[in-house]
Parts: sequence; C-alpha cells; structure tokens
Amino acid sequence: MDMELSCDLCGDIFTLKTSAFREARAKDRQSNCGDCMLKIARKEKKACKNCSEPMEYSPFWYVMKGMEEPKTCKVCKEKAAKSLAEKRI
Ligand SMILES: [Zn+2]
Ligand SMILES: [Zn+2]
Repeated sequence: MDMELSCDLCGDIFTLKTSAFREARAKDRQSNCGDCMLKIARKEKKACKNCSEPMEYSPFWYVMKGMEEPKTCKVCKEKAAKSLAEKRI
C-alpha cells in the first residue's frame, strides 16, 4: 500500500510505501521526497569551530529550513546544551 505525504522541506506531495513510512517513523526520520533526500545526501565537510574536528552537514537542509549552517559538531552542540541545562538548575 502507498500513502501520500507532503515533503517536510519543499512541500511536494510524494508517495511512500506504508511499510517504508512506518520504518522511517520508527527511526524518527523526517519525511522528505526523493528529490530532497538526494540533495540532503550531498554533504559538506568543515571543521568544528570549537574542537576543530571535521563534521559533515547538509547545506541544502539548512537552506530549506532557513537556518544558519552549523558551526560546531554534534558533540560540542550536545555539550553546550548540557551545560546550558545545568546552569538552569
Ligand atoms: Zn522535497
Ligand atoms: Zn566539536
């Protein structure tokens, strides 16, 4: 069975097999059309501003979300979020 979804990024309607949809939801994936998936897969590398570790990100995703490109890697971002949470306590 197929189901119709609208892409989270470009808003296009695309069809997905129900089984594939459940799988994507289980993995907490976003629902994006094939076109966007391909563009998201194109990643760029740059060094984290904090620890200088190389990190990968999808420029396309940030452009579509209207967000600034990330400056720090996931590890540093998590650390920053944690210390912020600790400060609140
Ligand atoms: Zn799309
Ligand atoms: Zn880092």
